[in-house]
Amino acid sequence: MRLPGTGNAADNPQERTPGDDPRQVPRAGNGRAPNVMRIGAWVPMRQYVDDDEVDFVIVGTGAGGGTLAAKLAEHGFTVAALDAGPYWRPLEDFASDEMHQSKLYWTDERIVDGENPLQLGSNNSGKSVGGSTVHFAMVSLRFRPDWFKARSLLGYGADWPLDWREMWDYYGEVEQTLKIAGPVTYPWGPKRSRYPYRAHELSASAKVLARGAEALGIAWTPTPIATLSAPRGDAPPCVYRGFCTLGCSTNAKQSVLNTWLPRALKAGAEIRDLAMVGRIETKHGRATGVHYHREGRWRFQRARNVVVAGYAIETPRLLLMSASSEFPDGLANSSGLVGRYLTVQGNQAVWGVFDEEIRSYKGPPSLAITEHWNYEDRGKDFSGGYCYMSQGPLPTLWGKTQATARGLWGEALVAEMQRYNHVAGLKVVSEYMPQARNRVTLAEETDQYRLPIARVTYSWCDNDRAMNRHALAFMRQALEAAGGREIWDQENDTCHLNGTARMGDDPRTSVVNADCRSWDIPNLWICDGSVFPTVGGVNPSLTIQAIACRTADRIKALAACGDLSGAASASPKRALAWAS
Ligand SMILES: Cc1cc2nc3c(=O)[nH]c(=O)nc-3n(C[C@H](O)[C@H](O)[C@H](O)COP(=O)(O)OP(=O)(O)OC[C@H]3O[C@@H](n4cnc5c(N)ncnc54)[C@H](O)[C@@H]3O)c2cc1C
Ligand code: SF4
Repeated sequence: MRLPGTGNAADNPQERTPGDDPRQVPRAGNGRAPNVMRIGAWVPMRQYVDDDEVDFVIVGTGAGGGTLAAKLAEHGFTVAALDAGPYWRPLEDFASDEMHQSKLYWTDERIVDGENPLQLGSNNSGKSVGGSTVHFAMVSLRFRPDWFKARSLLGYGADWPLDWREMWDYYGEVEQTLKIAGPVTYPWGPKRSRYPYRAHELSASAKVLARGAEALGIAWTPTPIATLSAPRGDAPPCVYRGFCTLGCSTNAKQSVLNTWLPRALKAGAEIRDLAMVGRIETKHGRATGVHYHREGRWRFQRARNVVVAGYAIETPRLLLMSASSEFPDGLANSSGLVGRYLTVQGNQAVWGVFDEEIRSYKGPPSLAITEHWNYEDRGKDFSGGYCYMSQGPLPTLWGKTQATARGLWGEALVAEMQRYNHVAGLKVVSEYMPQARNRVTLAEETDQYRLPIARVTYSWCDNDRAMNRHALAFMRQALEAAGGREIWDQENDTCHLNGTARMGDDPRTSVVNADCRSWDIPNLWICDGSVFPTVGGVNPSLTIQAIACRTADRIKALAACGDLSGAASASPKRALAWAS
C-alpha cells in the first residue's frame, strides 16, 4: 500500500495496470471522477447523455474553462466541460523525471512560420484536465490598472472593455481561491488586501535577484505564487523540490485541477476527459452543441450555450474549423479577426556563474520578482513593460538550453553542466505588441482526427526588439551587481500565448464583448487567454481566471434578466439538490 507522499505509480511503472492509462481510457465516467487529492479515491460526478441539452458545454478545462465551469455550476447552470487531455491523479501519476513528465504538454503537430517562429511544445500549452495550470510556474500577478486602457492612457495596443476596479475585485476572489502565498504589502500598484498565505522563504536564486535589485536601487518582492506556504485541507505545503513546471506530485500547487474543478464537480458539473472537440455545430445563427471524439468515435453533445476555452491556438483553430455555409469564414469571425493579434510575451533571460552554490532547482522557479519596469515609464525607448524574476531550470532543460541557445556540445557541454549548481538567472516576462499579422490559421495538413492542424505565424516588431534590448541590458546589470560573472544572454525565448479572439467594445474590431460573448452568435462564448487585446508585462493566468469569474457573474445576471437568448436560467437549487 502507498501512503500519500511516499512514492507514486509513475515512479514505479510496473505498478500501473494496462487499463489504468489515463491517456488511453477515460477516468471520468460511471458517475464518478478522480478525487485528485487522495490516492485511488473518487468523487461522485453528475453525468449527461449526449441528447441532454446542457446549459453550457465548455471546451477546455484550463485557467479559463475550468474556472468558468466551477462558477457557472455554482450559479446553478447545467455544465459539461470537455477536455482533450487526460484526468491525471498527481499523487500517483506524476514522476520525478523530466522526460516522463513531458506527457503534460500539448505536443500535437503544428506548423510555425513568420520572421520569429515560436517554439511550441513545453513552452506553450498543456493538454490535460486543468489545462496548462497543471504545469505552470504558479506566478500570480495582477495587471497594472492602466494596461486595461493601454491605447487611451499609454498610447499603444488597444483598450480593454473592462474597468480595472472591477478586475481588482475579481483578482481578490481568485487569490483567495488559490490561497496565493505572497508578501504582506505589494510594492506596486493600487492598494490590495494582503495575500491569503504568507510568502515563501527565498531560495538562493531569489536572493540573487534581491541583491541585484537593491544594488541598482529598485524595489523587489517575494513572488505572489499559487503554491501553499501552509497546509490546506488534504494539500500539504510546498516541499521545494522544484518540479513545478512538470506537474506537482504533492498537490501543494494550486492548479485548476485541484482547486476549481473539485468545486465544479461538487456543484454538479460533469467533466469529460479525453474528449477532443472537432467542430461546433450551428443552426439559424445559433450554436447547438459540439462534435467531439471520445472512446474511438465521434459524438455530439447538445447545448444551449457553447464556450470555447482551448488556449490561444486551439480556440481560433476550433472556430475556424467550424465554418459552415452560414458562417463560411468560421464562427464569430465577421470582423475577420479570429486568429489575429496573437500576442505572446518575451521570455529572455540572463545567466551567470556565482562562487557560492545556488542550486537554483531547489524550490519553485520564481520566488522573487521585480515589476519596476512595469510601473516606471521614464527612460524607456519602447512602449509597454516587463517584470523579471528568479529562475530554476532542472538539469535536462538546462542541458537543452546550453545546446540550443548557446550551441554547446560535447566536452564544452559537459564542462558547463559541471557548473550547474553555481548558476543563477533572471528571466523576463515582457509585453510584446499586438499585431494583426501575428496569427493562427488552418494548415493543409491534418492530425490524428483528420482535422486541419494549426499554422502559427509570428514576427517581432521594432518595439518588441527595443524591449528585448532594454530588458537584457538591465538584467545583465542586475546580475553583475549581485556578483555574477561570465554572464550570457538567452535571446530568443517567448512564452504565454494570448490574443486571437480579442475582446472589445466594437464588433468591427473585436471578436467578443466584455462578457466574453461573441458578437456574431449570441450563445457562443470565448473564455480563455484568447480574449486578451494586449498582454501586459506579467504572467496571464490570474487575469484569465479573474475574467472567467466575471464572465460567470455576468452570465448569471444576463440570465436573471432574460438575456441568455433561450438558455435555461440559473436555478441554484438544482445544483445544490444534486450535491446533497
Ligand atoms: C511552462 C509554463 C509555465 C507557465 N507559468 C505560468 C505562471 O507562472 N503564471 C501564469 O500566470 N501563467 C503561466 N503559464 C501560462 C498559463 O498556464 C496559461 O496562460 C493559462 O493556463 C492559459 O489558460 P487558457 O484557459 O487559455 O488555456 P489552458 O489552461 O491551456 O487550457 C486549455 C485546455 O483546453 C483543452 N483543449 C484545447 N482544445 C481543445 C479541443 N478542441 N477539445 C477539447 N479540449 C481542448 C486543452 O487540452 C487544455 O487543457 C505558464 C505556461 C507554461 C507552458
Ligand atoms: S516545489 Fe512546491 S509547487 Fe513545485 S513541484 Fe515541488 S511541492 Fe510542488
